[in-house]
Amino acid sequence: MKAFSYERATTAQAAAAAASRPDTKFIAGGTNLLDLMKLQVEAPARLVDINRIAGLDQIEATADGGLRIGTLVRNSDLASDMRVRRRYPVLARALLAGASPQLRNKATTGGNLLQRTRCYYFYDPSKPCNKRQPGSGCSAIGGFNRIHAIVGASDQCIAVHPSDMAVAMRALDAQVETVLPQGGRRVIPIVDLHRLPGNTPQQDTNLQPGEFITAVSLPPPPAGVQLYRKVRDRASYAFALVSVAAIVDAQGGTIRRARMAFGGLAHKPWRVPAAEDALINAPAGPGAFAAAADAALQGAHGQGHNDFKIVLAKRVLAGVLGEATRV
Ligand code: SF4
Repeated sequence: MKAFSYERATTAQAAAAAASRPDTKFIAGGTNLLDLMKLQVEAPARLVDINRIAGLDQIEATADGGLRIGTLVRNSDLASDMRVRRRYPVLARALLAGASPQLRNKATTGGNLLQRTRCYYFYDPSKPCNKRQPGSGCSAIGGFNRIHAIVGASDQCIAVHPSDMAVAMRALDAQVETVLPQGGRRVIPIVDLHRLPGNTPQQDTNLQPGEFITAVSLPPPPAGVQLYRKVRDRASYAFALVSVAAIVDAQGGTIRRARMAFGGLAHKPWRVPAAEDALINAPAGPGAFAAAADAALQGAHGQGHNDFKIVLAKRVLAGVLGEATRV
């Protein structure tokens, strides 16, 4: 492992300023970063430990009836918080579908959002990978691509974002609060946090160098049944092939409004307004579910080994909508 320096930040502003230097990374739970460093996929010159910054491990009710989650709140604490379990069950379910109990005890809210893809080639420095080494090529295109993207990909990268939590937060319209290294704060709608790969797959997010996530805020929960369903190769400790976070407000067999976000399909949680529009005031049933699925997957195409994801995503969505509306 390459030698690196280590320092502790005691304020969010100091952390942002420290991390704005080249080759510097934040570390909190370290559940992804340490693996990447051991493999030399990441080789930072400096680590800025944010674990000692006071006040970032709190979950607070907000004046508008929502919830504000500090960036250092551990995934296990967030999943077990009674306010989350009662009012945001889609988030609790998504968190519990991720990783293992040991990892959830360490992993943080901010770190979960910033974890990197689990593309096999990204973790193998002997293989070309535009995300790890820009301009080197993409080994997944034409390679083994069972876990890769079917929407939003580019000819530079077909990786998917691995987080379950982020998919639920996308359905909930979360907002990400940050501190900028030069001073000042930003509030970023979660839809704008993660990027599609385009020509710069090395950039996972729209954060500036050093910009530090301090919290995630959730608006008051929308009306409706909240569900998270994850399909993976084994029953636990595996990333999603396809997942769906859904919030469905239905009555008397008619869907008033539905929100649906997919995981495992793209470089960011995938949510398509046209798919949700297709369900407004629609009779709950296979016809409406299929129309929504077709809209959500419009333009999807596989890379060979992952062609099955198109059909699987439609079936998972139909299953979730059926469960939510009890059809
Ligand atoms: Fe690298 Fe992206 Fe290609 Fe995977 S899909 S090899 S992360 S460029």
